[in-house]
Amino acid sequence: MMLLTKKMIEIRSMLQVVGQSNTLILPSIVVIGSQSSGKSSVLEAIVGHEFLPKGSNMITRRPIELTLVNTPDAQAEYGEFPALGLGKITDFSHIQKTLTDLNLAVPAADCVSDDPIQLSIYSPNVPDLSLIDLPGYIQVSGLDQPEELKKKIADLCDKYIQPPNVILAISAADVDLANSTALRASRRVDPRGERTIGVVTKMDLVEPARGASILGERRYPLRLGYVGVVSRVPQTSGGLFSRGSGNITNAISRNESAFFSAHPLEFGPQTELAVGTLTLRKKLMHVLEQTMASSLQGTSDAIHQELEEATYEFKVQYNDRPLSAESYLAESLDAFKHSFKEFAESFGRNQMRELLKAELNQRVLDILAQRYWNKPIADLSPLLAEIDPLSDLPRADPENLYWHRKLDASTSSLTKLGIGRLATTVVANALQSEIDRLLSQSTFATHPFARSAITGASSGILNDRFYSTSDQVENCIKPYKFEVEVENAEWSKSRQDVLVVLKAELGACETAIKHVEEAVGSRRKLKDVISFIDRVRRGEVVLEGDGIGGAGGYSAALLSKGREALFLRDRSSILQMRLLALKSKQCASSTNKYHCPEVFLDVVADKLTSTAVLFLNVELLSEFYYNFPRELDVRLGRNLSESEVERFAREDPKVRRHLDVIKRKEMLERVLEKMESLRLLEGREKRREESQ
Ligand code: GDP
Repeated sequence: MMLLTKKMIEIRSMLQVVGQSNTLILPSIVVIGSQSSGKSSVLEAIVGHEFLPKGSNMITRRPIELTLVNTPDAQAEYGEFPALGLGKITDFSHIQKTLTDLNLAVPAADCVSDDPIQLSIYSPNVPDLSLIDLPGYIQVSGLDQPEELKKKIADLCDKYIQPPNVILAISAADVDLANSTALRASRRVDPRGERTIGVVTKMDLVEPARGASILGERRYPLRLGYVGVVSRVPQTSGGLFSRGSGNITNAISRNESAFFSAHPLEFGPQTELAVGTLTLRKKLMHVLEQTMASSLQGTSDAIHQELEEATYEFKVQYNDRPLSAESYLAESLDAFKHSFKEFAESFGRNQMRELLKAELNQRVLDILAQRYWNKPIADLSPLLAEIDPLSDLPRADPENLYWHRKLDASTSSLTKLGIGRLATTVVANALQSEIDRLLSQSTFATHPFARSAITGASSGILNDRFYSTSDQVENCIKPYKFEVEVENAEWSKSRQDVLVVLKAELGACETAIKHVEEAVGSRRKLKDVISFIDRVRRGEVVLEGDGIGGAGGYSAALLSKGREALFLRDRSSILQMRLLALKSKQCASSTNKYHCPEVFLDVVADKLTSTAVLFLNVELLSEFYYNFPRELDVRLGRNLSESEVERFAREDPKVRRHLDVIKRKEMLERVLEKMESLRLLEGREKRREESQ
């Protein structure tokens, strides 16, 4: 005996985990009574602690689903609010405070709320019971307790006092039982008194003879009977049983038995009246056990039904595909590592070389523009229109130191621009953005947590390697800062390469001119404004003022477009010029390097690139390829707790639904198994009882 309730309570909390507690109702004892009938005192006497909200203005606004779990071997008594995740609360005044706060959180306009508070209490001193405490019926509506509240409470109670629940109807002995709101309510739903236990409190407040006659009530007979109690905490001088400290059950029952045994004539064994909190406790346990047993079949059928629905959903929606948070994470991680491996195989020295060379090509163009191609653009002289802008360059005297210094300075700008840092940045950025791309195409795309773990893993490694790699590269290109030797083959290759680069630059220039034309609206208009600017440059036109607000009938915006177009036009004519020069015989060999700075700088850029790539490969790329997958294992594998894995998987709504169905199904299967063994046990028990 007494095993069923415990098991059923376990089953109920299992069902609560999968959110099934509402559809599968397991019987509870529902406690009703009017305000001040002594309802709280009875519940606290059973629990052994004061834990319910008190205070003149404090009415219970939400149902409290109170689960008592007997823990015979445990020392400590504690409470838990499973839905709130506050952990174990050993201080009962803290539980009281929490309940008060939860009550006060119900908006005054709503009066009461249907949403139950779940509270479990674990103690060696409590029986296994499942009780529901409801707001007390209001007798007289006062100013601050409107009629509406009275009705709302009555409706809420009506919802709970339906079968298979047992009703614990609390009435005070000093109020005529015929006026008991609790009994009246239970009579409406349980007219034959089959599932109601009558509790008569405050037995000490009436004459013993009168008390005894109340317990022998004949007008509304109850199959489960009436129990008389004195459940008030006895006042001790030392205040030993003050709120929250010590267990009060013993003190109450001692006080109670002193009262009842002082009146043996009225309450003695021969009267067969049920009195005392301990008697009430036993009765509750017994009745609940019986009720559980008789609702076993119904509950089991309901769970079967639920299970069938879950099984169907699993089959139809998920094709019976098994899934767990761990397997989901493992599969996602494998797939991601696989895509990373594919990338790693496709990105090596050649790709780094291309990236870096493209970057250096840009730098070379900048240097050339700054040191060689700037002449007509920097001083806005009329030279451009009449004279070949670089006419002095190809015809320059190779022995002239001026040209030597110019090339040396340009080379030095290139070798000293911080190649180590630049090269490392280019490759690290490429790797990081590749990881981002892989991420956005992977299952992790919908998982912010995993995304940041993975980006963190890659940026962590890249940052770790950054300074040493960039120092290494910088060190290794050092010789080029002093001297660059050029072989013929290198020269020819660079000459070809640089032609391609300049042609592309020329193309870009021409496209940009087109864009300016489009922005201005007409080619004619642009031509006009350009020729105006030209004339200004030549000094043929003198601007009045600073020309900021426009000039010559052109707006400031138009003039700026014109200057832009002019710049581009100059740049493109220089490029055309240089392309011709580079194609000419003069640039065919390295002996004329001072005439052909473009080729020479390309040779330098090439050498820098090759050397940098050699070390980037060892210092950065190989390290990254080796460490990244391992770091992923650490961050998304070993280091994650079970609940973190669960949280990760549930980030994706599709996965969450899939996991939920499986969990529900598994839980229902386990519950059903438990129920089956309970039924077997019950059956055996019954047969044993019958044979006796
Ligand atoms: P509730 O509003 O129904 O929860 O009633 P309470 O449990 O708060 O009790 C109302 C008042 O009656 C409190 O002052 C209690 O101390 C007192 N009370 C409760 N039970 C008894 C009892 O058995 N005897 C006496 N004398 N007073 C009681």
